[in-house]
Amino acid sequence: MAEADNTKQESRIFEPPASLVQQATISGMPAYQALCQEAERDYEGFWGRLANETLEWHKPFTKVLDESKAPFYQWFNDGELNVSYNCLDRNLKNGNADKAAILFEADGGEVTRVTYRDLYERVCRLANGLKSLGIKKGDRVVIYMPMSVEGIAAMQACARIGATHSVVFGGFSAKSLQERINDAGAVAVITADEQQRGGKQLPLKAIVDEAISLGGCESIRNVIVYRRTGGNIGFTEGRDLWLHELVANQPTDCEPEWVNAEHPLFILYTSGSTGKPKGVQHSSGGYLLWTALTMKWTFDIKPQDIFWCTADIGWVTGHSYITYGPLAVGATQIVFEGIPTYPNAGRFWDMIARHKATIFYTAPTAIRSLIKAADADANVHPSKYDLSSLRILGSVGEPINPEAWMWYYRNVGQERCPIVDTFWQTETGGHMITPLPGATPMVPGSCTLPLPGIMAAIVDETGHDLPNGQGGILVVKRPWPSMIRTIWNDPERFKKSYFPEEFGGKLYLAGDGAIRNKDTGYFTITGRIDDVLNVSGHRMGTMEIESALVAHPLVAEAAVVGKPDETTGEAICAFVVLKRARPSGDEAKQIAKELRDWVAKEIGPIAKPKELRFGDNLPKTRSGKIMRRLLRVLAKGEEITQDISTLENPAILDQLKQAQ
Ligand code: ATP
Ligand code: MG
Repeated sequence: MAEADNTKQESRIFEPPASLVQQATISGMPAYQALCQEAERDYEGFWGRLANETLEWHKPFTKVLDESKAPFYQWFNDGELNVSYNCLDRNLKNGNADKAAILFEADGGEVTRVTYRDLYERVCRLANGLKSLGIKKGDRVVIYMPMSVEGIAAMQACARIGATHSVVFGGFSAKSLQERINDAGAVAVITADEQQRGGKQLPLKAIVDEAISLGGCESIRNVIVYRRTGGNIGFTEGRDLWLHELVANQPTDCEPEWVNAEHPLFILYTSGSTGKPKGVQHSSGGYLLWTALTMKWTFDIKPQDIFWCTADIGWVTGHSYITYGPLAVGATQIVFEGIPTYPNAGRFWDMIARHKATIFYTAPTAIRSLIKAADADANVHPSKYDLSSLRILGSVGEPINPEAWMWYYRNVGQERCPIVDTFWQTETGGHMITPLPGATPMVPGSCTLPLPGIMAAIVDETGHDLPNGQGGILVVKRPWPSMIRTIWNDPERFKKSYFPEEFGGKLYLAGDGAIRNKDTGYFTITGRIDDVLNVSGHRMGTMEIESALVAHPLVAEAAVVGKPDETTGEAICAFVVLKRARPSGDEAKQIAKELRDWVAKEIGPIAKPKELRFGDNLPKTRSGKIMRRLLRVLAKGEEITQDISTLENPAILDQLKQAQ
């Protein structure tokens, strides 16, 4: 195969700072390797040890891994615990009662400090309130909330009583919400009157009403409404109730419901970059184990850290690294209601400075847009803020282009902070492949090495291992505790999507392509399998060409797709957003030529885009990911008939239809 032929080798290596290595939980590469070897030697012993050390079990498990119903793997199957107990009660017992669990910053800037005791009481009162409505273990509750302490408390309250939550991101439409309520068969929705973002009030309750009116939501008995803005909303007698009234007279203690480790903690519908959303079902024990452990390993969390993950609780990142992981390890975290560009694009940097954040975790899409903003206005450049509190940076959601990595490293981390480029998925529950901040030498654009116990590998179309240096399909060879358990209501789709027969039914198929470096064995994600290009027999990942384009000084963002071509089989079509205004006419032609020549020089003539279109933006999911499947349709010149319910900015499609 020819994948490696055109690969521009990234040769810059950045060592983690010695001061960080010294005090890190996993300190230095030998410590990392020792853990990997422990897992190789005795897989179940390794996970069993960690599960006992990391979590508090109500009833200890006697069996670590049950493979008898594979690929429906079960972990710590006969053990019992409660997730909310592990996140809250344990902290009250451990002396963290008065420690800040959450520093909540509202859109307008007001800050609320919520201690572990406060949060415990809020969660218990809400849990009691839910029970008073007859909601019980195994019921599904849809949470359609803004970023708020109440949103986190709602998730924890469900966990406390054994109800399975399904959080739907607050930007989703009534139709998307209705489909998810219907698929989950939820008995209640917890929502807010409105959300406050970027100085604006946006409806939530009205969308819930509309979703229910679309039909198919007959399972819903109650809609619980958190009053955020005080905006005008409709109320359906007998069904709707205010959250503050529901919890008003509830006791501040609530005995947790002890559940089996395999009890479904939540269902989360994936963001839909590749197709119809799937209800990814997660467990209680294995999931919590891995979110807590990766807080310690990947983020090296320490008692004095101020952790900030900028994700929304509507995405898996917000589940694992806001609602569960940080609380399970007793951390203090920042929770932010607003958006990175309000009141200006310096908001993130300003918040880091004011709260003295030590660990900052965000997405490449945010970084790219803040680079563009800082280029346009020096006042919102990170150098204008005191970011000296930071010690670790993280990236998640998409591959980070080396150019954006370097900017993040230099300007935000001031060349002092390691960047953990965490590769993982809704389905994996937590980090899979990532550098460790006190161990792994970093290479921009590479997620480096799998975490201990994660048996990631690269195989060909028949499931056979490929040697380093050859691009192929990313798989995981052994089950791991926080893996997806099934697709809600669709076990067949679960098997077909993730454990396909073509691969022997035993390999977890991530759906992403990757390549390992010949010398270091480091992984680089090359893009989704569906996005691999084949030009004149050369297979190329979209990521490589996109990164080359983004490395050009004029380019802010780029997405590359293939379109059928008579001579080359497939031709490369690039969609490009410039840092300046969208060009047209001769200027567009001239810049397009310059960019084509640039790619030819950076990678090779084979990677030269045949066609190049400019847009003000790219079609993105509501979680900020580029939807290449829509661009593929546009490149072919066809009409879009696919599911676009998760598309953030439908208007952009018209603009990008035009070939330049
Ligand atoms: P859907 O599965 O519905 O199409 P999605 O895959 O975008 O949506 P997520 O589970 O949120 O939903 O995202 C996981 C995907 O994001 C990964 O499969 C990978 O393509 C990409 N990704 C996440 N983090 C990284 C990273 N650090 N480097 C490269 N790619 C990443
Ligand atoms: Mg996916």
